[in-house]
This record gives sequence, structure tokens and C-alpha cells, in this order.
Amino acid sequence: MAQQQTPTPPAGAPNPNTSQQRRGTIPEVPPFEGTLSFTKQPVMPKVQPFPMTQVRVLGGPFKEAAEWNRGYMARLVEDRLIHNFRLNAGMPSSAAPLGGWEQYTPGRDGELRGHFTGHFLSASALLYASTGDQQAKAKGDSMVAELAKCQQKIGADGYLSAFPTEWFDRLDARKGVWAPYYTIHKIMAGMFDMYQHAGNKQALEVLEGMANWADTWTTSKSEEHMQEILKTEYGGMNEVLYNLAGATGDDRWARAGDRFTKKSFFNPLASRRDELRGLHVNTHIPQVIGAARRYELSADMRFHDVADYFWYEVTSARAYVTGGTSNGEGWLAQPRQLASELKRSSATAECCCAYNMMKLTRQLYSWTADPRYFDYYERTMLNHRLGTIQPQSGYTQYYLSLTPGAWKTFNNEDKCFWCCTGTGVEEFSKLNDSIYWRDDQGLYVNLFIPSELNWAEKGFRLKQDTKFPDVASTTLVVSVDKPVQLAMRLRIPEWLTSGGSVKINGKSVEAMASAGSYLTLSRTWKNGDRVEMELPMRLRIESMPDDPKMQSILYGPLVLAGDLGSEGLTEQMIVGPNAPQIRRVPLEVPSFHAASADPNSWIKAGAKPLEFRTDGQQKNVSLAPINSIFGKRYSVYWQVS
Ligand SMILES: [Zn+2]
Repeated sequence: MAQQQTPTPPAGAPNPNTSQQRRGTIPEVPPFEGTLSFTKQPVMPKVQPFPMTQVRVLGGPFKEAAEWNRGYMARLVEDRLIHNFRLNAGMPSSAAPLGGWEQYTPGRDGELRGHFTGHFLSASALLYASTGDQQAKAKGDSMVAELAKCQQKIGADGYLSAFPTEWFDRLDARKGVWAPYYTIHKIMAGMFDMYQHAGNKQALEVLEGMANWADTWTTSKSEEHMQEILKTEYGGMNEVLYNLAGATGDDRWARAGDRFTKKSFFNPLASRRDELRGLHVNTHIPQVIGAARRYELSADMRFHDVADYFWYEVTSARAYVTGGTSNGEGWLAQPRQLASELKRSSATAECCCAYNMMKLTRQLYSWTADPRYFDYYERTMLNHRLGTIQPQSGYTQYYLSLTPGAWKTFNNEDKCFWCCTGTGVEEFSKLNDSIYWRDDQGLYVNLFIPSELNWAEKGFRLKQDTKFPDVASTTLVVSVDKPVQLAMRLRIPEWLTSGGSVKINGKSVEAMASAGSYLTLSRTWKNGDRVEMELPMRLRIESMPDDPKMQSILYGPLVLAGDLGSEGLTEQMIVGPNAPQIRRVPLEVPSFHAASADPNSWIKAGAKPLEFRTDGQQKNVSLAPINSIFGKRYSVYWQVS
């Protein structure tokens, strides 16, 4: 995040973001040289999220966003999502083809076709788990059954795809092909999620078939040649194979997963060196999620260090104020050069990257229960996810552009199907998955979202009533049949600069934990017990690490965007393009003069909550959370003198 102005820590310095002991010395030999061997040794997580089936989001902006997404998913017809798979298997299909990246017409082949169908399966499973939506489950189940028929018909060691195996011959021969394993990963992950979250056993069979094909294909390659092949994007092939190994107990899948270890990427990370410049961002985050999973299955610290260092480096040195990372899909500069990197393109902060960084974040959090992981998670969720879905339509963004004068652009109904459309339908199907966590002593409240937790095993229910972030407080009410002893840990966010209070049944709790930690309430909870927490928000400024005058304005966890009007914007410029074409409609973005270091000296509260306006500037601007800006040009970064 941009407020980090400390110099780059030396390699091997203790990581402030994890309480886990790091290995003491920098390895002299690249840690991933030689052939990997897998030995099962599971690492128990310190904390676990409650299953999505035990948590329900009750209302507010998160519920609204989930409903818009559910509407979009319901409008997509099953036969259209299966169409390309049927054609590829030589089966009849008369469905209307999808467009964009799913296009399959002679001469204009979408080389990633089928990827969105995989995401859709994941999203269906997540939607069912998070809401109990039977229609979503029925559609997902039916799609699994139809895809299983395609897999049978193809009859090639379990291969299942919407494109032919010849594309893998091209991959093998290092001839041009986009990213066939990337697409295969999405379908495998969709099958895994349908098994794990929707209990579909046929999905596990289909997945084992696909894993068999991938295992056979990769076994035939030499180690050296496989490393060449891994230069082509392959999504999270390692992760899904490790997940399958974890779910079935069959180490064969973990050994297959190990073949997707890109050593040139992992070696510097495990040695705590940032060599990320020049890499394509969303190619690599999923590989790190796979590394984290590999550590959990084997206790191999090399993989731990890859994930731990990567997370620390990306969130502290390569993330914009919204929590988003990437520019033009890449890391284009050295760490902490975000102001100069931002000038390189308006295709800032790809949404898939935010999705995958949040996925990695919750995984690492489970190892340590360090609340600072949730400071990043909350920042990214509020600023880079909540406002990237278009109200009503449920269309989502590719890039959340942070170039001054940008506007938000969204996919259309059926002619885009970008990678981020895929991670988008997943994201907004699982907004309940990280609010509450548990360990042997009790539970953790990590996010302030109106919701209900049903801890059935303990006979303990918790209802969170809040209008956060519109109102900077939350109330938690306990329902129990008989008293339950447990610790309730409330996250006290790092953005809480002063104030903050907690009451139990109207009585103040004397000790308040410091920002960036937990307040632990250990007691025997009775029916109707009520915890009220106030988390007052304040205006604050964060500067770019390489340009202190380039500043953004925050209110509590919310990044504020300046409203620069909608002049010249048309519907065609908003729905369809993957990024705003800013150069076509130039706009002069005002700069500001700060009367003092205190932002209250030049920014005043507006009439409504979360509305602000600059004061005493040559051109004054209204400010509101970036998650509330639609159909307008905006700026998040300003030149402030
Ligand atoms: Zn994407």
C-alpha cells in the first residue's frame, strides 16, 4: 500500500506481517534446484473460517452486490455455457454461441474458450454454499453431468476442454498458443468447487479424470523441458492438483502438482528477493496460492517462504491505495515505484489480481491469525471489489483504473467473458466466506458486514447488525439456548487512528486493544448478550512512496475518489471496453494546496455520510468512496502541494 515510505527492508529481514519465525539465513543455493520430492506432513491451521453454510449475509451493500451477481448468473443459459465443449467433443449443439473470449467461430477462435464455464461452476458451488440457492446448485449439477458426457465422448485419458488436445502439442513444441493449461485449471477448479462446496461426487470423478490426463501429459516431459513449458501461463494447476491430493489423500496428485513448480519464479522469492519486475501479475499470483497449499500438505518451509515473502512484498511495495496491484497486467517497475508505474497505462489494477491476492491473504491468515492480513483484506474488499460490480446489471470490471480522470468500465451481457468476468462471478458468490473464523478457544470477527453466524456445534448464534461503513459501528447479539463459554475476538483495524470503544450490555469495556490487533472478550455468553463497537473514522492522507506530493485521501478504510463529472461519457465507453480510453477524451485534473498536514484543514464533510468536499482550492471537488462512483470520471490520486 502506498503509505509505506520506509526503505526496502534488506533481504532476510524479519517480516513484520507474520508472527511466524522466518528461517534465519538466506539460502546460498537456490532453494528449488533439483527434483522435488513430495512427503506428506500436514500443517494444522491456527484458525479456520466457518463453513459458508453457517454464515449468511443479511443486507447492506454486500448483499446487494451478491444479488446483482446472482441475477447475471441466472441469465446465462446452461446450454450456451456447454456449447463449445459439445462441439469440441463432436456432439450436436444448437445453442447461441457466447462471444468475447468464449468465441468459437472458424477463423476467429477464442483460445481461452471454456475458461468461463469453469469459473461459472466454481461460482455456482459458492453461491449454493453461501445462500442455499437450489437453482444454482441444480444448474451446476446439470453442467457437471453434461461435461462428464463430453469427457466420455472425447475418450482421451480424462481430457476435458472446449478446444482440442492439439493445442497442447503446440505448447509442447513451444509454438504459439495462448494459455491452454490456464483454461484447464479453471475447469478443474470448477469441478473441485462443485465437489467441495456442493457435494457433487460426479465432479470429483471428472476432476480425477482430468488430473489423470495432466499427470500423464507432464510425466512424459523432461524436467528441463517442463520448465520451458511453464513459461506459458498455466493458472493454478499446482493448486488444484494439491487440493485434489488433500481431498483424496492420494499423493500422486501432489507429485503431479510439483511438476508445475516454476523454479525461476520461486527461487528468488524463497531467498526473499523481489525479482517481480517484468512479470505478468495474474500469471503468478495463482502459482503462489499453490505454493501456500503445498506448504500446508508437506510442511516444506521453502514453499512457506515463497508465499510469505511474496504476500509481504506485493502488499507493502507493489499495491496501490485500493489494495489493487498490476499495471497493464504487469509489474513494470522496481518495488515502491508506484507513482512512475501508474503513468505507464490506464489499465491499472486488474480485478483478477485483487481476487487472487485476497484468496492468498485468507490462506496465510489461517497460519497465524495475524489481524494485519485482514487490514489488507478489508481494504481491498471495500475499495477494489465492492464497487467493481455495476448496480442492477451485475456486470463487473476488468481493470479498476487509478489514472486521474478515469472512469469505470464493465463487461457486457455475453460478448466479453474476460478472465475478470470469471473471477467476478466467483467473488460476488462468496462474500460471506471470511467474516467469522474459529479456533479451539472461540471465534474471530474480522469483517463488519450485516450477517448471521450459526455455530451449531456449540449451540451459539451471533447476529451482526451494522450499517458499516456508512455508520462507523457494529453491534453483535448472541443467541444461545444455554450459556456458552468462549472467547470472542474483535478485530481492531489498523486505520483506527484514535478513539474506539466496546460495550457489553451497555457497559464499557475498560481495556481497548490497539489498532491492528484483537480485543478478546472471554466470558460465558448468555442469550441476548450484546456487544457494541464504535470505530470512528478520520480523514487521512497516504502518499506514493516515490512521489510524496502524489497523494490519496482516505476516510477510515475507505479510499475517496473525486467526482470529475460525466461530460463526454457514453454508454458505449462504459459497457464493453476493458479499460477507459482516457486519451480520447482528455481531462484536466485539478491539483490541490494543503493548508496544513491535517487533511481537515482543506477537506470538509458534506451533507450526507461519507460525502466530502475540498475547501479553498482553485477548483473544488466533491469526494466520495470509490466504491460508490459509477458513470463518472474520477481521481484517486492528486498532486498536493
Ligand atoms: Zn482478469
